[in-house]
Parts: sequence; structure tokens; C-alpha cells
Amino acid sequence: MSKAKKRIPAILICIGTAALVYFAGYIPFYTYQEEVLHTTQEQFFSADHLVKLLPFVIIVLLAAACILILLQIREFAAWKRKDDKRYRRLKTKPKGSKVIGQKRSVFMTVRWCCMIVFSLLVMFGGIVLGFHLAGIAFPVLACPTNLDQMVESSCYFLAHIPALFEEYSAGGIILFFVSTIGFAVLLGRVICGFLCPMGLIQDIMDKIRQKSGTEGIRMNEKRHNLLKPVKWLLVFLMLGITFAGGEFCSFCPALATSPVLAGLSVSLYLSGFMMIFVLVSSFFKRRFWCSICPMGLLIGLTHKISPFRIKKDVQSCTECGACYEACPMGVKIIYTEREKSDVTDMNCIMCGECIRKCPEDNALAMTFAGKTLFRASRKQILSGFENRKAQKGGDVQ
Ligand code: SF4
Ligand code: SF4
Ligand code: SF4
Repeated sequence: MSKAKKRIPAILICIGTAALVYFAGYIPFYTYQEEVLHTTQEQFFSADHLVKLLPFVIIVLLAAACILILLQIREFAAWKRKDDKRYRRLKTKPKGSKVIGQKRSVFMTVRWCCMIVFSLLVMFGGIVLGFHLAGIAFPVLACPTNLDQMVESSCYFLAHIPALFEEYSAGGIILFFVSTIGFAVLLGRVICGFLCPMGLIQDIMDKIRQKSGTEGIRMNEKRHNLLKPVKWLLVFLMLGITFAGGEFCSFCPALATSPVLAGLSVSLYLSGFMMIFVLVSSFFKRRFWCSICPMGLLIGLTHKISPFRIKKDVQSCTECGACYEACPMGVKIIYTEREKSDVTDMNCIMCGECIRKCPEDNALAMTFAGKTLFRASRKQILSGFENRKAQKGGDVQ
């Protein structure tokens, strides 16, 4: 096939995306309606109601188109630079960062189950089960536009602090801060690794990348450091907008997930585009949004005193660096620490990837109040080689 012909799919994708973006203005991106909050089970399963999922479908399609365009651009750039090695690597589709064949640990199964169950609960629990979780402080999870069941969520009031002081008595305000901070201290960033639907969406995008054999973007320390000011900027933007009486929620990408998937009518112009950014960025770089998420940063402030810890046995560590390589958040202390046993970092989302990839028994572990939940195991790592050996029917070098 000639080089010009190879470019045809990319050109078609560009035209398709431009058309989608243009016509998106004609597609009903619904605006918030008070009465829709009281959706009954029958209404939820009606065809009319399911049509409201259309914006989410468009968001996913636009994100897929953007990913395909970026892949084409990346390939084209390598070809243009005559970087044959890189071009071949992109064409031969390496297997991402996955440890080939490694058996799934119980910890990882539990983590994925928690993420799926909590996301479903947040999105559909209120409608299908008739739950009323008002007052429970679920940072991020409890989007207030997702049924009136969660209007007193901490996420909503963190973005509407003046409203909190207007609507509640002193007792209510104290209760809000005590419950929110208490919840954040108890779980820390376990919320990010186990509960947040945005985390689940990003992990799914990463799995899709791995399955497609697409090469991800490697983030070194310098690149991670560049993201730090962005994170703080978003926190100040969030607080600035909230104190100025603005609507930070309109920018929040989570608005395009839980309320929309629950079939509710919300305005998606800004949050829809933010969601596309989240989907595309997390496809190329695992948990990219988490690296700049303002809510994650706020939860991280309490993470240092949470009972969930990452512990390191410095005697067992051989300084191989596999943990740092595997960490989606670029937490370096797990690799560099040579004295302290506690290597919990405010950026750590407690995903356990470093522990899963650590080849030395007990060198890294996740604990809750001193009790080990998950620890590094050489046997677990070797299970990957055994699986490959079984698949190939011979020795693996
Ligand atoms: S950093 Fe933000 S988006 Fe990521 S899991 Fe935590 S709360 Fe969710
Ligand atoms: S330090 Fe380990 S548990 Fe924490 S984010 Fe990095 S890989 Fe996940
Ligand atoms: S992966 Fe394990 S052995 Fe290797 S540097 Fe990290 S803690 Fe040490």
C-alpha cells in the first residue's frame, strides 16, 4: 500500500471528528431539570429515559476518534523523522506495561470488584434499590446531581462552601467538616484506588490500551513534577470559583459519568469536553487525571495520618526500581527510601501496583492499622514466568 493510501483512514477520522464536533451542537445536551431528580424505577427503564444516555455515547465516540487521530499523528511523526526503530515498535504493537501472564492476586480482584460495585452503587443504587444516602460523606463519589439522595455530600459542598454556611446551622457545619475530614482520614486515598468511579474509568482505559498493544507514554520524574503546579492551580480554581459564587461542577468531568449514566439531565458542554480529555489522556498515560485531580489532592492532605499505609522492608529491597516503574503516580519514595519503613506518600492512590511488581518477598506491603493486607511476593512474580512457560510448552529465557 502506498504511503498516501495509508493516510486515508487518518483523514477520514479527522473529517468524521470535525463533523461530530460540528453537529454535537444540534444533539440534545440536556440542561438540568429539577423534576428529573425524582426518577422512578419505571421511568428509568423507559426508552425515553434511556435516550438521555446519548450524550455519554457521543462523548465516548469523540474520545475514541481523538485517540485514533493521536495514534496516527504519533506514527506519522516517527515515520517523518525516519525513526525506523520507533516506527516499527509502534506498528508491531508491544504489550504495554502488563506483566505477561502474572496470576491475578486476590488483592487486585478485590480492588476491581470494589471499584465496580461502588461505581454502580453511586450511579444506579438510588434508582434501582431506592437507597437514601443523604448525609454520608463520599468525597467525589457523591455527586449531588445524581438524585437528591446525596445532596449533603461533601463533594458538593467543597465546591459550594458559601452555600454550606448559608443553608446550615453551626451544628450542621461542624458535622459536615467532622464527617468529611473523618472519612478522608479513615480511608485516605483508598478512596482513589478502590471507590472513585473516575478511577475505574481511567483503569478501564488503561486496560483497553494494554489489550490493543498500544505503547503508553512513559512519565519520568521531570514530567510528573511539571504536573504538580497544575494540580494546585485546579484546587485554587475550584476554591476561587466556589467563593466567587460560580459553578465549579460545570467543569467537573465526573458530571458526565454518574448523573448521565443514571439517565439524568445535566448540562454537559464543559464537563463533556473535560470527560473527553480524561478518557483520551488516561488511555495514553495511566491515571493521568488523578495526577492533577483537585479532589485527590485534598484527600491526599489527610493521607499521611490514614491507617492505610505502604510499608517497606529496606533490608529485603534490592533497589531494582520495578516499584517506581510500575507506579502510575510517579511516587519515588517507595524506591529511594533506605531508612524509614513507612513510605506512604500523599500522591499514592493505594493501587498496589508497586507491590504487585516488586520481586522481593515482603519488601513492600500495604497495611491497615498494622495488619498486612497485601505484600510483595516472589512467587507471584514467578507465576508469570510459569504461565508463559506453560503457554509456550518450554523454557522461558
Ligand atoms: S485522584 Fe480524583 S479522580 Fe482520581 S481517583 Fe482520586 S478522587 Fe478520583
Ligand atoms: S506507590 Fe504503589 S500503591 Fe501507591 S500509587 Fe504508586 S504503585 Fe500505587
Ligand atoms: S520493587 Fe521491591 S526490591 Fe525493587 S526497588 Fe522496589 S521495593 Fe526494592
